[in-house]
Amino acid sequence: MARYKAIISYTEMLQQEGVSLQRGMNFRIKPNYSIILMSVRRGAPYNDRWHDDTGLLEYEGHDEPKKGDIDPKTINQPLRNSNGNLTENGKFYEAAMAYKNKNVSPEEIQVYEKISRGIWCDQGRFELIDAIIAHDGKRNVFRFFMQPTQSSHRNELFLKQTRIIPTQVKVEVWKRDHGSCVICGSKENLHFDHDIPYSKGGSSITEKNVRLLCAKHNLSKSDKIMGYVPWIAGVASFLLARGA
Ligand SMILES: [Zn+2]
Repeated sequence: MARYKAIISYTEMLQQEGVSLQRGMNFRIKPNYSIILMSVRRGAPYNDRWHDDTGLLEYEGHDEPKKGDIDPKTINQPLRNSNGNLTENGKFYEAAMAYKNKNVSPEEIQVYEKISRGIWCDQGRFELIDAIIAHDGKRNVFRFFMQPTQSSHRNELFLKQTRIIPTQVKVEVWKRDHGSCVICGSKENLHFDHDIPYSKGGSSITEKNVRLLCAKHNLSKSDKIMGYVPWIAGVASFLLARGA
């Protein structure tokens, strides 16, 4: 359980998956799931984004590899490569279409988000539910839509809350807490932890109500939060009823 939203190094990420990740899109690199690497940091190579209201991840497809003088950012992202095989874009696109049109179960995707150099966040599993080829004014790019898996994990609620911490906040918290647990100083198995936003009478998440905790201290916190579930559900339905 503790693996979700865990902060890990690049090396730990590779060890966890037991594969080498040479690129951002890795269709079925594992027998039962795919792996993507993403980032919403300034200067990130692709335009990925989190939809904080729904937890949906919108992920951009990848460019043609650079050849000669042509800037890959000026040409259409490829569906197939020169020998006619599907690119990673093509494989993910076909999987999304199979889910949408043929009632095939959605492709499961493990998502890792880059927070800083060598620092990654394990965002857990998502399902690929849609894809489009969009014209951005200059060229065609792929946009993939992934939703958090509808799993029955007992900490799913906790997980949903932590997924919506904006990346900029994660980066600031990481710096402020010097990459270590604020309770014991451990640098192992760290997680982002935040107060239930409603307790402050609002839903905004800033670095003030987020901190770094090791797995041990995060787990004791998590059990406490689970005790509040009925209360949170009550607040949520109240807000829904108000149309907030
Ligand atoms: Zn600790």
